Amino acid sequence: MRIFDPHIHMTSRTTDDYEQMYAAGVRALVEPAFWLGQPRTSVGSFTDYFDGLIGWERFRAAQFGIRHHCTIALNPKEANDPRCAEVLEVLPRYLAKDGVVAVGEVGYDSMTEAEEKAFAQQLTLAIEHELPVLVHTPHRDKLAGTKRTLDVVRESGIAPELVVVDHLNELTVGLVADAGCWMGFSIYPDTKMDEHRMVTILKEHGTQRVLVNSAADWGRSDPLKTLRTGEAMLAAGYTESDVDTVLWGNPVEFYGQSGKLMLDPLESAQPGGETFEGNSVLRGART
Ligand SMILES: [Zn+2]
Repeated sequence: MRIFDPHIHMTSRTTDDYEQMYAAGVRALVEPAFWLGQPRTSVGSFTDYFDGLIGWERFRAAQFGIRHHCTIALNPKEANDPRCAEVLEVLPRYLAKDGVVAVGEVGYDSMTEAEEKAFAQQLTLAIEHELPVLVHTPHRDKLAGTKRTLDVVRESGIAPELVVVDHLNELTVGLVADAGCWMGFSIYPDTKMDEHRMVTILKEHGTQRVLVNSAADWGRSDPLKTLRTGEAMLAAGYTESDVDTVLWGNPVEFYGQSGKLMLDPLESAQPGGETFEGNSVLRGART
């Protein structure tokens, strides 16, 4: 099985995760910029993080045989903090960089006016930079949040096929399908969407315009949920080719719209003596 995880926060994960993901068939991923779990207090905190996504984390993933891309944005939650407003001014510089394949995560968290303003502004940036957009939907009041999200997307004038609306469930998938946007599903352990519910949704809506991700981060999550979904699809009678469409072809098609995917195979899945700005993942071990 060949897997492209279109939404996973590797900065929060370990090298064990990278090794297990590679063994499971993960060869490429997209890491969206998001919040740290506690507030950032200045724009410098964002730029160091963005630089890490396109620098060290891309290097670290490559050491384990995985192609790393990212999306860059002011996340919905921190759009409410006036100390972070300046981030919007540095975004164009990052959106122009190699391996930055979309604007994201943007959207609503608590559905405030500040969130809406930052969301609309960043949709405009995506149009200007000819990039796709990854849109987060709120975990609370999801149906109302998804409706408003789609209104803002429509008003922006961006082509719906350039937008993935993420964290969907049975209640919200239909709205997004009708809007012509891509449908994103985050598969979590225990709560929210799981791989079996995902298969039921695929049976109803088909495999086109669907992205399945683990959304693994610093919270309770599982970076192998993409693999588990592929296994659940096979158990439900889908073919290997159907699984490849959902877990590889679709993310390549969606993020490929950026023209910036880097999918040539890596030479090795084992860290050697390579360094990034003088640092390796070997912690001083000699090879
Ligand atoms: Zn996320």
